[in-house]
Amino acid sequence: MSNTPQAGAVVVHGGAGASREHEDGCVLAARRALAQLEVNGDALDAAIVAVTTLEDDGRFNAGSGSVLGLDGATIEMDASIMDTRGRLGAIAAVQSVKNPVQLARAVADTPHWLLAGEGAQRFARAIGMPASEPVSERQRAAHRKILSQLAGSVPAMPGVNNNLFDRFWNYNTPLNLPEGSACDTVGAVVRGADGHFAVACSTGGSAPKLLGRVGDTPIIGSGFYAGPEGAVAATGIGEHIVRHLLARTVYGWIADGMPLAQALQRGVDLFDPSIAGGLIAVSRNDAAACSNSDMPHSRMVQR
Ligand code: ASP
Repeated sequence: MSNTPQAGAVVVHGGAGASREHEDGCVLAARRALAQLEVNGDALDAAIVAVTTLEDDGRFNAGSGSVLGLDGATIEMDASIMDTRGRLGAIAAVQSVKNPVQLARAVADTPHWLLAGEGAQRFARAIGMPASEPVSERQRAAHRKILSQLAGSVPAMPGVNNNLFDRFWNYNTPLNLPEGSACDTVGAVVRGADGHFAVACSTGGSAPKLLGRVGDTPIIGSGFYAGPEGAVAATGIGEHIVRHLLARTVYGWIADGMPLAQALQRGVDLFDPSIAGGLIAVSRNDAAACSNSDMPHSRMVQR
């Protein structure tokens, strides 16, 4: 940890493969994170403020905007937080929680680092966290789009045969195909002026997905990582990200002295260009974002 005072920095993303039309949401989230840094200088608090803002936005696949499961009713969310003060928490496949990132933060105060499914949901109720808002028309429209993609011949998830979702179906109600894959998770990385680093991530998961599917977002070293040389968050299809332990791999390159932009580009280059992938990171003296497709994001440095 550097003891030398440096400028605080924030980078926020709204998901690889998501429309940049929604970038104003990332700008607002980064602005709020910088304002939070001014309040108490805590990089983790700032990262959580940014991700909470994006969860409440409704246009991103996280919190209030989370993608519906293939049954058109279930929403399962993943989230994570980590910083260089030793705080680490995550939740996986949790239902009915308004702000999963805050639940992940609360897990960091328990004896555990990761809570999943019903246990995570009960934990949320036990500590008085509000339940999710009702499903919006936007979420329903995204679900209809996924079902129509699944019914077509082009894979709804790159490289995965559409029939596999039917074959391994595990929701309570039958698959009802109608008459693109959602991949716009959110994340934030922050460098505090005191040299501490933090990361926070949240997602409704990439779609289409089976019940109980967990991606990279709550998996340390895959979707997120923070260490004495920086913090990294990944976005894209979790099944690909975990195979590269992407966040920890990129962090390792940064810690070895590779310029930040080069480390992020090398990480993104691990993906086939047909698979949307993106990274954001802060290091001791830099802050950057990189992706192989559109990725709404915002980068701000304290003056
Ligand atoms: N990585 C997330 C997941 O696979 C999705 C995303 O980043 O958009 O759950």
